[in-house]
Amino acid sequence: MRKLEKLQNDSKAKTDEKVLLEVKNLKKYFPIKAGVFKRTVGWVKAVDDVSFFIRKGETLGLVGESGCGKTTTGRTILRLIEPTAGSVHYNGEDLLAMSKRKMNKYRTKLQMIFQDPYGSLDPRMRVKDIIAEGLKAAHIGNRKERYEMVKEYMEKVGLSPLYVNRFPHEFSGGQRQRIGIARALIMNPELIVCDEAVSALDVSIQAQILNLLDDLQKEFNLTYLFIAHDLNVVKHISDRIVVMYLGKIVEIASKHELFNNPLHPYTKALLSANPIPDPTIERKDRIILQGDVPSPANPPKGCRFHPRCWLAKPVCSEEEPPLVEVRPDHYVACHFWEEMEKQN
Ligand code: SF4
Repeated sequence: MRKLEKLQNDSKAKTDEKVLLEVKNLKKYFPIKAGVFKRTVGWVKAVDDVSFFIRKGETLGLVGESGCGKTTTGRTILRLIEPTAGSVHYNGEDLLAMSKRKMNKYRTKLQMIFQDPYGSLDPRMRVKDIIAEGLKAAHIGNRKERYEMVKEYMEKVGLSPLYVNRFPHEFSGGQRQRIGIARALIMNPELIVCDEAVSALDVSIQAQILNLLDDLQKEFNLTYLFIAHDLNVVKHISDRIVVMYLGKIVEIASKHELFNNPLHPYTKALLSANPIPDPTIERKDRIILQGDVPSPANPPKGCRFHPRCWLAKPVCSEEEPPLVEVRPDHYVACHFWEEMEKQN
C-alpha cells in the first residue's frame, strides 16, 4: 500500500498525465466566537487535512453530503476564502503562498461556476456586462473588443447574441447557468471549479448543461473539479471521483472502480442511496445509515465515520485510518477495507 504523496510523485513522472493541480494537507477551520468579547471558543473543521490532485484535461468529481466540506474545498483552492493550512500547487506554483497581486494574474486561468444561477448574477447588470466583468477587471481588450467577445462566447454556450442587452431575470434557470459558464469561459481558463453547477436545475436542463460542459471541455481542453452531491450527475461527467465525509477524504477512485468496487463503508452507503431510474425495480441493497452526521466542530475521535459504521471495531474509535492506495489509483481511508471488498 502506498501513501497518496507517493502516487502524486509517480503521476508527475507520467508526461501524458500531467498533474495540473495538486492539493496537499489543505485545512480550513472557521472560528466559533462566543461571549461579549467574541472570544474564539472552538473551531469548525470544515476541511481537515485534504490531499488530492487533478490531471490536466480530466474531470475530478467531489461528492459527499451537505456540510462535508466539498464547497469549502473548492473555494479555498481558488482562495475565495483563505485556508488555515496546506498548499495548492497549480502548474508547480503554490497558489496559497502567492501575494494577492500575483494571485490575480492566475485568476484568469482558474474560474468557478456557481451553484445558484439566480443568486450568482447581479440582477442590475446587463448580460454583456456580466460576461465581460472579468475581462474588464483583468484589463483585457477595449470596450468594443470585449463586446464582440461576449457575443462570440454567448454563441459558444448556446445563447443568442441578440440577448446581449437583457437582464438576468429575462432568462430561464438553464439560460442563466449558460451565462455563468460564458462568464467563466471567456477568461480562457485551464481549470474550472463547478460548484453544484447543475443542482438547482430541472433534470432535463441538467442533462443539457452537462453535455455543454462536456463539449466545452473537449473544445478548450479544460480541466474540471466538479463538486456535487448527486452521484448520478458526478458519474455522468467525472473520470475519477473523490468522496468526502465530515471534512476528510474517505475514498478516491476512477468512476468505474468506485461504482463497481467501493471500499469504504460510507461510499457503499452513498451508492446504495442512489436512485435507480426504473421505479419498477425494488432496491434490495439499500443501506440506511444510523444517526446524524456529527458536528465538524466536534468530530469523533479515530475514524470520523465510526459512530455510523456497521463494520466499526474498537480500533476505529481510537486510530484515524490514513488514506492509502490499496489498488492502482484506488485510495481508501478505512482499517477494514478488505472486509468491505468481500461484501461487494
Ligand atoms: Fe468503519 Fe472502521 Fe472503516 Fe471507519 S475505519 S469506515 S469505522 S470500518
